Amino acid sequence: MRIKKETFKRMAEEARKSPQQECCGLLAGRDGVISEIFPAKNALESATEFEIAPAELFRIFRAIREAGLEHLGIYHSHPRGPATPSARDVERAFYPEAAYFVIAGETRAFEIRDGKVEELRIKIV
Ligand SMILES: [Zn+2]
Repeated sequence: MRIKKETFKRMAEEARKSPQQECCGLLAGRDGVISEIFPAKNALESATEFEIAPAELFRIFRAIREAGLEHLGIYHSHPRGPATPSARDVERAFYPEAAYFVIAGETRAFEIRDGKVEELRIKIV
């Protein structure tokens, strides 16, 4: 899975700016390369879980489509660690094609499909 350096840095910054609660958002790009970040509000305002409100999710998906991009990933932070998906993350992973990024100091990416988690290799381009 490939991601532009600027987008990767920006995602880590979003996590740093939000030490008290999980930050979250969507990632998009073209030809399998993630190049755009769409930060969202964590509707749960929680340090241990996140949710993007349906109206905001709809707005972001529309913005992605209007920009001629594809939805390629979802990111969120774990302010208290670890940088792996929680049981709730796995349960609520509704996009099997997306790369799930988890930021907790380091940033890691996973494919979550039918309850199975596999780590993806992040290639910064
Ligand atoms: Zn999580």
